[in-house]
Amino acid sequence: MQDVPLLTTAILNHVEAAHPRVEIVSRTVEGRIHRYDYAGMAARTRKLARALQGLGVQSGDRLATLAWNTHRHLELFYGVPGLGCVLNTVNPRLFEDQIVYVLEHAESTVLFYDRTFQALVEKLAPRFTTVKTFVLLSDEDSHDAGTVGALNYERLLADQSDGPFAWPSFDENAGAFLCYTSGTTGDPKGVLYSHRAVVIHALAAGLASAFGLTAFDVVLPCSSLYHATAWGLPFICPINGVKLVLPAEKMDPASLQELIEGEGVTFSGGVPTIWTMYLAWLEQTGKTPGKLKRVIIGGSAVPRAMAETFKTRYGVAVLQIWGMTETCPLGVVATPTPALAALGEDQVDEAIWTRQGRLQFGIELKIVDDDGKDAPRDGETSGALMVRGPWTIKRYFRKEADALLDADGWFDTGDIATIDQYGFMRITDRAKDVIKTGGEWISSIDLENIAVACPGVKIAAVVGIPHPKWEERPLLVIETHDGANVTKDGVLEYLQPRIVKWWMPDDVVFAPVPLTATGKIDKKTLRAAWKDHLSG
Ligand code: ADP
Repeated sequence: MQDVPLLTTAILNHVEAAHPRVEIVSRTVEGRIHRYDYAGMAARTRKLARALQGLGVQSGDRLATLAWNTHRHLELFYGVPGLGCVLNTVNPRLFEDQIVYVLEHAESTVLFYDRTFQALVEKLAPRFTTVKTFVLLSDEDSHDAGTVGALNYERLLADQSDGPFAWPSFDENAGAFLCYTSGTTGDPKGVLYSHRAVVIHALAAGLASAFGLTAFDVVLPCSSLYHATAWGLPFICPINGVKLVLPAEKMDPASLQELIEGEGVTFSGGVPTIWTMYLAWLEQTGKTPGKLKRVIIGGSAVPRAMAETFKTRYGVAVLQIWGMTETCPLGVVATPTPALAALGEDQVDEAIWTRQGRLQFGIELKIVDDDGKDAPRDGETSGALMVRGPWTIKRYFRKEADALLDADGWFDTGDIATIDQYGFMRITDRAKDVIKTGGEWISSIDLENIAVACPGVKIAAVVGIPHPKWEERPLLVIETHDGANVTKDGVLEYLQPRIVKWWMPDDVVFAPVPLTATGKIDKKTLRAAWKDHLSG
C-alpha cells in the first residue's frame, strides 16, 4: 500500500474536490451572516497559509486562538496545522492567570482573537512573553489595532495572491492541536492531538454507529471550537460533505433557532445546558425545531427528560456521547443496536437515554475494581473507567512522564462507570474532584482550599449537586471552629475577590462534614445528602 501520512490537509483537499459547492454559513462576531462554500474556504485557507509564512512562522510553532465558532476560526483549524504548526485553542472561560499560563506553557508566538476578547488580550498582553504577533479576527473596516498593535486578519488574507499552494507533507504523528484541560487542581494540562489522531477520530466519529453523517446533513456545532475541537465536527463534516453552520458565540435559543430554521439544520450538538434553555424556549414560544432530526449531547450527563421531550414532542433523537479532552474527545456514542431493538422501542429508548453510549471502534473501554482487577461487564458492577486507543492521550504536553496507568496503555478517566452486555457504558459517579457546570470545570479542591482559609472555618467541603439549568453547581458545606461566628454572607464576601464569579457556590450550608475511613472528606455521602438542595 502507499505510504500516505494522515494529515488534516487531506480533508481540506478532499472536500474541495468532492464537495466544493457545499455551503459553510457562519454568524460573525460583528453579527452579520457570512456565506461561502468549501471551495471558498479552501482558497482562503491557502491565503492564510501564505500570510503565516509571510509572518515567519516555522513548522512546529504554536499559534493560539481566543475565538468563537466562526468561519475564520475554521480556516485557522486547517491553515495552521496544514503548515506543520500547532493550533493552541485557548478556552476563554479559563481564569486570566490560566490563560496566561496556557499561552506561556505552549510558547505560542501568534495570538488570533475575536473582538470580544480585545480588552482581555490588551490587559494580559504585558504578561505574554512569547507572543510576538497579535491578529484581530475582524472585518477590515471595523479593525482596531489597540494597544497590542494587532494586525487585521482580513487584510493579511487580502494581501495574498490566489492560486495553488503546496501544502507540506510530514509525519502524521506531528502535533496539530494543543487543547488544555483544567481538571482537578493546579495548572491546566495540555493535550497535543496529532494529525493522525485527528483524522482517524474524525473517520470513526462519522460512522453510522456513531454520528452517521451524510452529505444530506446540515450540522450546527454548538460545542466550542476551543473545547476539544468542537468534538471533531470541523473534520467530520467536510469528510462527509456536510453543510456547516457556525453560530459564533450566540448560543441563546432565539439565535440558534434562526440558524436551525433558516439553514435547514438536521443535526446539532452541545452540552446539556444549551438544550435545557432551547427546549424551554420552544415550549414558551410554541416554535418547532424545523428539520432538526438528531442532537448529540455530552460533556455532562443528559437528563432523561431532555431526551424524552426531544423525541416525543419534536421527533428529534438525542444521541448521548461521552468523551474528554484526553480522548480527542470522542469515547462512546449512544446509538441503537439490533440486539436492543429486538427487546422493543422502550428498551432502545431506555439505553439511549440513560447510558452515555456504546463501544465504538478505535477506543477500548474497561472498568476495574479497587484492586485494579477487571470488573464484570454486567451493567451492575461499577468500576474505574479506563480507555485506550490511537486517539487517547499518552503524555500531557511537556510532562516528564506518561499519563498512563500501566505499560498496557490504559488511561484512567477519573469517571466511575458500568458496562453492560450490549456494550453500553453508564457513568455512575466521578472519582475526580471536580464540578462540571454548563460544560466547564470548577475544581472543588481549589475552591475548598480558598474557603478553608476564611476565618472561623474548620472544614470546607465543596460538592457538585444537580441544578436545573447548569447540570451541576457547587455547594459549600462548612464546619466551623467551636465558638466561631461564621455566616453565609461573610463566607461569600470572603470568596468574592478570590474567585471568578461563575465559581461562586450557589449556597453555603453549615453542617457536619462526613469523613471516610482514611480521614478524607466523604464526597459521595455529601453529594447524596444534599442532592436535592438546588433542584427542590
Ligand atoms: P468535554 O467537556 O469535551 O467532555 P472535558 O475533558 O472537559 O471534555 O471533560 C470530560 C469529562 O466530562 C468526562 O471525564 C466526564 O467526567 C464528563 N462527561 C463528558 N461527557 C459526559 C456524559 N455524557 N455524561 C457524564 N459525564 C460526562
